[in-house]
Amino acid sequence: MVDAQKFIQADPVIREVAEQKETVWINPDFLPFGVTDGVCQLVVSDEDIADAEERLSRFAPFIQRCFPETVETHGLIESPLADIPNMQKALEEAYGCSIPGRLMLKMDSHLAIAGSIKARGGIYEVLKHAEDLAIAAGKLTVEDNYAKLADEEMKQFFRQYTVQVGSTGNLGMSIGIMSAALGFRVKVHMSADAKQWKKDLLRSKGVEVIEYADDYSKAVAEGRKLSDADPMSYFVDDEKSVNLFLGYAVAAKRLKRQLDELGIAVDEQHPLITYVPAGVGGAPGGVSYGLKRLFKDAVHCFLVEPTLCPSVLLGMATREYEKANVHDFGISGITEADGLACASPSSFVTRILGNLVSGDFTVKDGKLYDYLRLLDRCEQKRIEPSSCAAFAGPCSLLQYEGSRDYCAKHGLTREVLENSVQIAWATGGRLVPAEIWDQYLSTYID
Ligand SMILES: *Cc1c(COP(=O)(O)O)cnc(C)c1O
Repeated sequence: MVDAQKFIQADPVIREVAEQKETVWINPDFLPFGVTDGVCQLVVSDEDIADAEERLSRFAPFIQRCFPETVETHGLIESPLADIPNMQKALEEAYGCSIPGRLMLKMDSHLAIAGSIKARGGIYEVLKHAEDLAIAAGKLTVEDNYAKLADEEMKQFFRQYTVQVGSTGNLGMSIGIMSAALGFRVKVHMSADAKQWKKDLLRSKGVEVIEYADDYSKAVAEGRKLSDADPMSYFVDDEKSVNLFLGYAVAAKRLKRQLDELGIAVDEQHPLITYVPAGVGGAPGGVSYGLKRLFKDAVHCFLVEPTLCPSVLLGMATREYEKANVHDFGISGITEADGLACASPSSFVTRILGNLVSGDFTVKDGKLYDYLRLLDRCEQKRIEPSSCAAFAGPCSLLQYEGSRDYCAKHGLTREVLENSVQIAWATGGRLVPAEIWDQYLSTYID
């Protein structure tokens, strides 16, 4: 157990976090990209990310065959990048803040198949596992048309194997839906805070859902143990998976293509600033890592977490990584942002992001619903509460002394910020059922 009191006394930001106040943590270990480049490449290289991208291309014919919603994109799972000028103005008015530059929404909330950012990492890892098994059994080569993986014979083959995962909801959905499509048996171990509609949806796809009265870390630990005891079972380990990370990292090149198409050049005078909601850290970590490799010092990557579960922040700020647990700091870890309710962060991600991430904003649960309503009203777009955390970033960048200092130190003057693109990364929402939207839209809490 981490000595929380020691950190609370030594670091005023950690004290604020422990008091569950909204704040920003600026990473004191942040380094210019050139300094970190060599070290990071040893862990996850550009070739690794390119390899993941190629694997997704190989699977495109299979995805297109199984999921008609992807016919239009030829089996590519990618989300729109939208301008949200009305939301930008509405946020400035509602919160008395200034959001310079062009505010955009990266709509992973609307990704095909899984309706969340997990459609990147989760689906990638299942596909990689399927490919490994099929190639080892002599049933597939990388030259084949992968559409054949949807044949009944292949389904029979995959039916011998089980895929298991611990999830607060969305990871289970991405793993569950894709595994079931391939023919795998699937078990999803879900934490107490997982939303009922997500459990129902999974069961309707033939997925076995195992519920725990405990939090996410427990669901993961139990799932991992059960899976390890079965030689035919594979566990998708959100707390340490490199494959999940690679699937997320592919997002960067795809985003660059979208920016290019819009004629948006990114350089240090026209920086990109991203805000991605974090749970265990994998999704925002992989996305941010990919972005840093491409845009280097021209991108500033921030995370956002609920004040009720700032685990990645604590893991990094204490340099205790996965040993940090929000409970040790007197924080419940129970939040309306179910996708972010991970009490301890990823060991792998908190380390690899150590010198790359700019900082981490925290946000109160009540604001998530306010942002949700505002976006619905101003832009007619609906994203789930966890996703809405992203807006705390652009709203707060110039409001906290810490982040203002960061801007001053890294050349983000008013003028440069006016030329920036700020991206709120929407991480989930498309699969939320109609009656749940009514509930979300009418939830008012502190
Ligand atoms: C999973 C998830 C995140 C965060 O991803 P992590 O890998 O857990 O950090 C953010 N938003 C939503 C909606 C999610 O489902």
